[in-house]
Amino acid sequence: MGSGQVTDWQGKNVTVAGLGVSGVPAAKVLHGLGAHVTVVNDGDDARAREQAAELEALGVTVRLGDGETLPEGAELVVTAPGWKPDKPLFTAAHEAGVPVWGDVELAWRLRGPDAAPWLCVTGTNGKTTTTRMLASILQAAGLRTAAVGNIGVSLLDAVAGDEGYDVLAVELSSYQLHWAPSLRAHSAAVLNLAPDHLDWHGSMEAYAKDKGRVYEGNRVACVYNVADKATEDLVREADVEEGCRAVGFTLGAPAPSQLGVVDGILVDRAFVENRQQNAQELAEVADVNPPAPHNIANALAAAALARAFGVPPQAVRDGLRAFTPDAHRISHVADVDGVAFVDDSKATNTHAAQASLAAYESIVWIAGGLAKGATFDELVAESAARLRAVVLIGADRALIREALARHAPEVPVVDLDRTDTGAMLAAVREARRLAVAGDTVLLAPACASMDMFVNYNQRGDAFAQAVRELGA
Ligand code: ADP
Repeated sequence: MGSGQVTDWQGKNVTVAGLGVSGVPAAKVLHGLGAHVTVVNDGDDARAREQAAELEALGVTVRLGDGETLPEGAELVVTAPGWKPDKPLFTAAHEAGVPVWGDVELAWRLRGPDAAPWLCVTGTNGKTTTTRMLASILQAAGLRTAAVGNIGVSLLDAVAGDEGYDVLAVELSSYQLHWAPSLRAHSAAVLNLAPDHLDWHGSMEAYAKDKGRVYEGNRVACVYNVADKATEDLVREADVEEGCRAVGFTLGAPAPSQLGVVDGILVDRAFVENRQQNAQELAEVADVNPPAPHNIANALAAAALARAFGVPPQAVRDGLRAFTPDAHRISHVADVDGVAFVDDSKATNTHAAQASLAAYESIVWIAGGLAKGATFDELVAESAARLRAVVLIGADRALIREALARHAPEVPVVDLDRTDTGAMLAAVREARRLAVAGDTVLLAPACASMDMFVNYNQRGDAFAQAVRELGA
C-alpha cells in the first residue's frame, strides 16, 4: 500500500476504525471491492449494535467495545477522522508499518482515472459557507458539481457513486487533512487560522501544519487570506506543482494576484490578462448574502477557487446571488420595534463570534455556553465599543463576565445564572429590554451549546422561537 492508487483490493485485510458517518460507508465500499474488512469500534451501545448487524449481514467482521488493539494481519487502517492520533491503535499500526488513512484519503485513492478535480476549502471558520458558495458559483457556470466532505455529504459516496461530476467543492476539517497525506487538490483555500481543537492536535503548530496540507501538490492556485499572515505562511511552506500560483483575497483594494473590494465591487486582479494594469469586475458587495465583512471574505475565497477553475465572471455574480446561507449563520430572524434579532448560533468559538460582532454597530450580545478552554479577553476588548449590553447564559458564563469586567466595565451585563433550555426565552426578553431602536440583538455565543442544548441548531431554534413569542 504505497502512495499510489490501489487497484486490487481483492483479499486485502483492511481495518476500519470507528462506525458512524464515515466508517459504515467505508466498510461497505471496501467490502464491495473484495477486501476482508474488520470494523473496530470503542463503543458497544444500541446504535453500534444496529450498525454492526447491518454490516455483519453483508459479511463484514465487526468488533465492538475495543477500538484499541490492531487486528491480526491488518494491512491498512482506515480511520474515522475524529479519532485522536495518539490512540494505541495507531501506535500499534505505526510499529507494524501499517499505513493509516482517513475517509478523505480513502476517497482520494478510490477515484477513477478521469475523476473530477477537487477544489478544497479549509480554515477555522467559514468552511461550510464558502464551500456552498463555491458550489453555487460552479453550478451557475453550468458545471456538474456538488458540495461534499465535512459538510455532511460523504466524499466516498461522491467518488464511488460515479455521478459524472465536472468538479467537486470539498470542505475539509483539520482532522480529515491530518489523515490525508496524498491528497492533491486542483486548488485550495485556507480561510483563516485561529486556535481551535488544540486538545486533538496537541499544539497550534500541529493544527496549522494539518491545515496547510490542503496546499500540498496544488496544481493551479493556493488561495490565502491577506489579512491572516499565517495562511500565507502555509502557502510558502507548501510543496506545489510547477506553475501553481499564490492568490490572496482581501477586503481592501487588491494588489496584482489578489481578489479584493473596490468601491463596493468584488474585483479580480489574479485571473485576468495583464494583472499589473487590469482588474475584472465580478459582483457587487450587495450580491453577497449576508454582506457582513467576514462573509464577503468567504465570497472572495469562493470566487478565487472558481476563477482558478476557469469560471467566467458572470457565473461568480449569479452563483453568489443564488446562494442562501445555512440556518443559524447570521440569519435575520425578525425586527421587533426597530430592533433586529440575528441568530448566529453557529458562532461556537471566539473567532467566529468576533466576526459576527464586527458586522453590527450597536449590539445587545447574547453569549455563553461551553468555553472549551477558550479565553475571552481579546474578543471582548475588540468588540467593547459596539456593545450596548450583554446577556449571559450557560455553564461558562463567568469567564465572559470576568473578561467584560476587565475590558468593558461600563457595559451593562445581565447574568442569567441559568443553564436550562428555557433560559433562552428569558435571555431574549432581557435583550429586548436593553436594546433601543436601531440596535441588533445578536446571538453569537462564542461557546459550544451542549450544556443547555442538543446542538447549535436547537440553540438557534430556541432563540428564534423566543423572538417570535416576543413579537406575538
Ligand atoms: P465552519 O464550517 O468553518 O464551521 P460556517 O460557514 O459554518 O463555518 O460558519 C460558522 C460560523 O463562523 C458562522 O456562524 C460565523 O459566525 C463564523 N464565520 C463564518 N465565516 C467566517 C470567517 N470568514 N471568519 C470568521 N468567522 C466566520
